[in-house]
Amino acid sequence: MERTVHLTLQPRETFVLAQYLRHMVPDGRPPRVSSRFLLDFGLAFLHQIGEDGRPNDASPSEHVPISEEDALSLRELVPLNATLGGMAATRASGTTAVRYGTMRENVLGLTVVLADGRVVRTGTRARKSAAGYDLTRLFVGSEGTLGVITEVTVRLHGVPDAVSAATCAFATIQGAVDTVITTVQLEIPVARIELLDEVQMDACNRYSGLDCPVAPTLFLEFHGPSERSVAEQAEMVREVALEHGGSQFQWATDAEARRRLWKARHDAYWAALALRPGASGLTTDVCVPISHLAQCIVETKRDLAASPVPVALVGHVGDGNFHLVFVVNPDDPAEMAAVKQLNERMVLRALAMGGTCTGEHGVGVGKLPYMAREHGEALEVMRAVKQALDPHNLMNPGKLVAPPPDAGFVPRADDVP
Ligand SMILES: Cc1cc2nc3c(=O)[nH]c(=O)nc-3n(C[C@H](O)[C@H](O)[C@H](O)COP(=O)(O)OP(=O)(O)OC[C@H]3O[C@@H](n4cnc5c(N)ncnc54)[C@H](O)[C@@H]3O)c2cc1C
Repeated sequence: MERTVHLTLQPRETFVLAQYLRHMVPDGRPPRVSSRFLLDFGLAFLHQIGEDGRPNDASPSEHVPISEEDALSLRELVPLNATLGGMAATRASGTTAVRYGTMRENVLGLTVVLADGRVVRTGTRARKSAAGYDLTRLFVGSEGTLGVITEVTVRLHGVPDAVSAATCAFATIQGAVDTVITTVQLEIPVARIELLDEVQMDACNRYSGLDCPVAPTLFLEFHGPSERSVAEQAEMVREVALEHGGSQFQWATDAEARRRLWKARHDAYWAALALRPGASGLTTDVCVPISHLAQCIVETKRDLAASPVPVALVGHVGDGNFHLVFVVNPDDPAEMAAVKQLNERMVLRALAMGGTCTGEHGVGVGKLPYMAREHGEALEVMRAVKQALDPHNLMNPGKLVAPPPDAGFVPRADDVP
């Protein structure tokens, strides 16, 4: 008779996790029991990074945890108390990706424990390499389906000498997005350029005590080596914004005002939830080529007018990425059906524009239905990789590259991320 074992593991070292996994798949044979196990990680181990931003010369086998202070400043970069392993696994990014890149650009190497307990280290300290497949890029974004990331070596960027931030309200969302597109096309090196629609601005005003116009708004930040270079960038963007109906620039000049502004931005999800006390948040995102961003957002907003629930739009628009937070009652089937349809229309629109079904949040199980449409034959190649590295389907079964329907796998409700 089949037995199901539920385990929660909290390994603190790579080799301990490797032992667990070897034990579960002895001699490469399938597990005798149907096992479901949950791994609980804190902050992933990191190789120490030199002051020049490059990995230092410590032996790769020397696991040097970073100092608590460095860990804290790293965590400020990490959204929603996410872990570094989780960020690498979802190829995450955030408000500064437009200038500093996503986890794809900033992960230099990984230690990964495979499903059979083998431990692989990817990447080198060389600036570039032509030696073989790029396994770092394979595991970054694999959502835990190919192995467990236990160490992440990241590139750090220096703190800029001069910083300024501002908000700018627009008469229309089209004007705000056109400002972003022109800014990107002019290659003005903005450090952050975030869009909040009028619903989200209203929510942020109430939740975070801001006093901004209830209108589509850009949150901007400029970094540079001097006050002058930052002022030049800001002036260029201001001119672009004015051409597109932007007005009411509000500058956050000192560090405290900037911190308050970006805290409000990072609390956007909680602010949206507060629009409907007791409701839940259903988040989704897409990413499109920047040249299609305005059309995608405008058409999506037109659809959202029919939403039966409050829905807020926020976007890392400099990357062509935007998110919706539907504030739903998950127990109301009619509401959920309507929201599902709105989400689907947005995803199909993004795909038709040459974009992707998710720029950040990942596939999990929610975006599975769109993977074939987005990737075509390449999805079969992904499945082949999964089969090669995890033949017994132990690692996050049912996610990212779900088996074909005839395999009879039905994702469980609690597999939903
Ligand atoms: C309101 C809201 C806002 C968000 N904002 C952003 C954002 O700005 N930018 C962004 O990129 N994402 C965002 N996300 C998505 C998500 O928070 C990020 O992708 C985050 O990086 C996930 O990290 P985590 O540690 O919470 O991972 P989890 O949510 O715990 O896991 C995510 C996936 O990675 C796998 N995983 C976790 N750790 C490991 C590991 N060590 N090895 C292998 N696989 C692992 C898990 O099994 C799971 O499949 C947001 C989500 C929400 C709900």
